Amino acid sequence: MSIVDIGSLNVGFKRGLSHITALHVEQIQVEPGECFGLIGGSGSGKSTLLRVLAGLQRDWQGSVQLFDQPLAARRAFTGTLRRDVQMVFQDPYASLHPLHRIRRSLREPRQVNGLPFDEASLVASLEQVGLPGDVLERFPHQLSGGQRQRIAIVRALQLRPRLLLLDESTSALDMTVQAEILNLLQALRRDTGTTMILVSHDMNTVAHLCDRALLIKQGRVEQRLDRAALSALAGR
Ligand code: ADP
Ligand code: MG
Repeated sequence: MSIVDIGSLNVGFKRGLSHITALHVEQIQVEPGECFGLIGGSGSGKSTLLRVLAGLQRDWQGSVQLFDQPLAARRAFTGTLRRDVQMVFQDPYASLHPLHRIRRSLREPRQVNGLPFDEASLVASLEQVGLPGDVLERFPHQLSGGQRQRIAIVRALQLRPRLLLLDESTSALDMTVQAEILNLLQALRRDTGTTMILVSHDMNTVAHLCDRALLIKQGRVEQRLDRAALSALAGR
């Protein structure tokens, strides 16, 4: 079973009177437990690809399977698919309501999905990412950028997703905090085996964490990188 199996995928957008192809890719498979990287400059189509896989970009053509189930374009995700794919954005404010205490933001995904919620396991998952239990009482603005991003990761993991999508999730953080979050992701992957797709414009980040990666340029796959190629790049 593949986690992601893209036979072909096309996404286009209207720009004024013209139409631009934002993404045109073929043959992408992501296997269980893998960390799969997407590298490319700004505007190359990385977020568009993740947004299709998260069900946020619904206007697309092609053939895409998640967990061996074909995805239907123009249709919102329903049922377990909504739990199975979770995304962490560059800006954690995108997933944390500014006026809700962290407790509420972390409790909601499970409640909405009708899953039991207990405070003890929540505190345990905060500890797992190096946060003290008292952050639950705080509002997002009372946390540092790195802490907010840890919370966003805990929030995504609350539903035990089968696929975690990370869209430039560390790029807004300073170097030390970036490294901490990357180590955290590596540990999570080791402990939980969660399949991840990691988007970054930084080759080193991807080389450090991923087993394989695609270099995307102007919406197309420019290069496919295996572990050996990634190690060589990281060592440069
Ligand atoms: P990246 O994440 O690699 O920076 P994106 O996937 O965000 O790139 O964007 C790829 C291309 O698609 C860009 O040219 C961008 O302007 C365009 N694009 C993305 N989303 C939209 C949208 N909702 N409407 C119009 N154009 C879009
Ligand atoms: Mg992007």
